[in-house]
Amino acid sequence: MRTIVNQPEVFLRQKGIKASFQRVRIFDYLQNSREHPSVSKIFEDLHPHIPSLSRATVYNTINLFLEKHLVIPVPVEGTEARYDLSEPIHAHFFCTGCGQIFDIDTKAFPLPAELKDFDVTETHVLFKGQCPQCVGKTSS
Ligand SMILES: [Zn+2]
Ligand SMILES: [Zn+2]
Repeated sequence: MRTIVNQPEVFLRQKGIKASFQRVRIFDYLQNSREHPSVSKIFEDLHPHIPSLSRATVYNTINLFLEKHLVIPVPVEGTEARYDLSEPIHAHFFCTGCGQIFDIDTKAFPLPAELKDFDVTETHVLFKGQCPQCVGKTSS
């Protein structure tokens, strides 16, 4: 479903980002995660493999990726800020029952015709409700 960038170093440099080892590892982590991780989650998962990694570095890297439109925030309330890569453009479904964030393919609704002359750098579409596992259980 997701296009994996095989050479993150090259990709980051193309985006004007100095491709340090830690930035490449964080980018790779985002590419391979389906969980829409928070800064804490990224740090906790990568720190055992990269002892020199600090939480501040993860935070700063995410901010840099946000600035360069590589990453978008997923606007869900009640949790630490969550992130995903901006490409490919897709929507999210946030389940208010279990808190999972699902990726929703948006090929079904391409950019509205009114936007054809606009330079769209980010798209944020969030559906909210209950996933099939939560429908019919307790309402929140
Ligand atoms: Zn659910
Ligand atoms: Zn996503």
